[in-house]
Amino acid sequence: MKIGLGFDIHKFSKKRKLYLGGIEIPYTKGLLGHSDGDVLLHAICDGILGALGKPDIGCYFPDKDSRFKGIRSTEILKEVLKIMERERFKIKNVDIVLLCEEPKLSPFYENLRENLSNLLSIEKENIGLKAKTFEKLGEIGKGKAIACMAIVCLDKI
Ligand code: MG
Repeated sequence: MKIGLGFDIHKFSKKRKLYLGGIEIPYTKGLLGHSDGDVLLHAICDGILGALGKPDIGCYFPDKDSRFKGIRSTEILKEVLKIMERERFKIKNVDIVLLCEEPKLSPFYENLRENLSNLLSIEKENIGLKAKTFEKLGEIGKGKAIACMAIVCLDKI
């Protein structure tokens, strides 16, 4: 068994769609990034890579590389899962904390868990997901960014 911790943060931008956990969340802004800015999937990817003792997704998908401009983070996750499978591991469970002042994400928890269940090939019961506000403190609290932490537990196949 191996455990990894992932963290990511992305700023909001008016001209973007908001993608979290591979789904589009209706909101007036989205997250800025070289990819679709899916902070939740990025944190999961880094958790998986961290558990395997590997560097973060920036090393595999550099933001200087135009091949990855606008890439959906579901594609990044697929590549990370391939790396994990090559090492003969599978995901046992994940626990995710989103740090987000707005929008309110609780109405999307079930959709998100359902989608993550499909993407990660694990049961919904093995996916913990919650969003916390930052009590209006700092940049996240002003609604300028969303951050995400994810802890991932891998099991040897
Ligand atoms: Mg990122």
